[in-house]
Formats: sequence, C-alpha cells, structure tokens
Amino acid sequence: MQFEVFTLLPEVFPAYLDTSIIKRARERGLIQVNVHNIRDYTHDKHHTTDDTPYGGGGGMVMKPEPVFEAVETVLGLKDLTTENTESTEETKESSVGFVPSVVKSLNIPVILLTPQGRVFNQSIARELTRHPRIALLCGRYEGIDERICEHLVTDEISVGDYVLTGGELPALILIDAVSRLLPDVLGDPTGAEDDSHAMGLLEYPHYTRPPEFRGWKVPEVLLSGDHGRIEKWRREQALLRTFRKRPDMLEKADLSEADKKFVKSLKSKVE
Ligand code: SAM
Repeated sequence: MQFEVFTLLPEVFPAYLDTSIIKRARERGLIQVNVHNIRDYTHDKHHTTDDTPYGGGGGMVMKPEPVFEAVETVLGLKDLTTENTESTEETKESSVGFVPSVVKSLNIPVILLTPQGRVFNQSIARELTRHPRIALLCGRYEGIDERICEHLVTDEISVGDYVLTGGELPALILIDAVSRLLPDVLGDPTGAEDDSHAMGLLEYPHYTRPPEFRGWKVPEVLLSGDHGRIEKWRREQALLRTFRKRPDMLEKADLSEADKKFVKSLKSKVE
C-alpha cells in the first residue's frame, strides 16, 4: 500500500517512519510512504505557501496553487486534467463538497486531515486498507483555502475533537493504524484480531513474567495451560472492561448468547 503525504514539514516524518513495525513494513515493501514538501511546488522567489485570510482575522491560510500542483503532479492528475479540460462535470462526494470527476476517477482518496472531518476509528482504518494508494494532505496555520476542500479533497478525517497545530501527527496516526491491519505487517498474523475496537470490544488484560510482582499475582487461569478456560476468561474480561470503561460500545457489539448472559449478570450486580 502506498501513502502519498503532502506537508509543509516533511522533517516531522522520518523519526516515526524509521522505527519498529512501520520501518520493517517499509523495508519489506509492504507499505511505501512518500513524503512530499508542498513548498517544492511554489514558483516565487520566497517559496510562499500561505497568505492572510480574505475578510480579515488572525492567522494565515495555506494557498491553493502549490497544494493543487503538488497533488496533481504526484498523482498524475495534471495530465488527466489537461486531457479533460473540456469536461466541466463535477461529482458529489459522500463526505465533502463537489469534487471533479477526474479526481474521483483515479480512485485514490485525497484525504484532508482536519478537525472538521469524520472522526477516525478502527472501522475507517479497515475501510482505507482497501485502497492501494492514498493521498494525505496535512494542513497548518488556520487551515487551507476552501477551494482545496471543494475541488481536490475527496475525504476529510479528524483524529478527535481537539485542535492540533498541524496535520502531520494525524497523518502518522492514520498511516500507523491502517498499516498494522495489512497482511504480514504484524509479526503475529492474528495480532490485530483481538485488539481493542477490532471486534467492537476493548481487549482483555495482558500479563507477562514474573508471575508475582510486589505481591500482585498473575490470574491463576493464565498459568493453567487450559486453553478453553483461558479463552473464556479473556472473553469475559473483554466484556467486563468494555462494560466498565466504554458501555456505549456494548450497545453495538456483536455478542453471542453467552456474552449477553454474562453482560446481564454484570448489569444485575450494579443495579
Ligand atoms: N482553524 C482550523 C479549524 O478550526 O478547523 C484548525 C486549523 S489547525 C490549527 C491546523 C491544521 O492542523 C489543520 O488544517 C489540520 O490539518 C490539522 N489538525 C488540527 N487538528 C486536527 C484534528 N483533530 N484532526 C486532524 N487534523 C487536525
């Protein structure tokens, strides 16, 4: 899978991308992350990428020209746009405004990281694994010129209801969450299956050696070697901590009859 990242701060990325699982995934060719400096697509002496907002107010706004040129060049949209200059057809996208059909026809999501987007979660991460190539646009300052949202961006994603100084951390979060769902990226092929949110529940607790630390013992069942009991205990622990920490998730989780019975018993204890 290929990620094309567009940013004004490419220096933010190497430390994370050259570490651990993501580094190995890149080395093994399972993912490719190309970081593009939007400033390289300016043509004036000062390499200007931002300007003051029309209508006044504080802060700066990212200019449309370098962003369009960067994305169009890297995705090969420039040639397509030239070929299609006669076409004025525009297509309504699901999550954002009107996007030219030429962008849509490429089937490469052009995702703007923004606090105004749909809030990122495991199911969006899973949905994105279906695309062989994704473009990620990182904003800075007050944000980007609205014409980029309307005519280039096909999706908007937020990493939560708070505001960061730029889209670089959100882009890394998205790359990380999507990559670990791709085949062979994790050492353990079942590693992501039990993760919190993968199946609509929080994951069960983990323990490692020593079996006793400062008098606190590892639950006996985990040392028993009885895989049936361990599975049952883990499932119940997952239900228990979801019940305690994120009861909202239980409403939507896919529960077996045994799960429902267990949850009912938890509810009756607190009532
Ligand atoms: N003025 C903008 C607003 O209120 O919607 C916020 C701009 S923010 C200071 C600068 C950039 O950081 C945004 O363009 C976006 O790329 C990124 N950003 C900030 N918070 C984010 C979030 N929660 N999720 C994704 N991107 C975010």
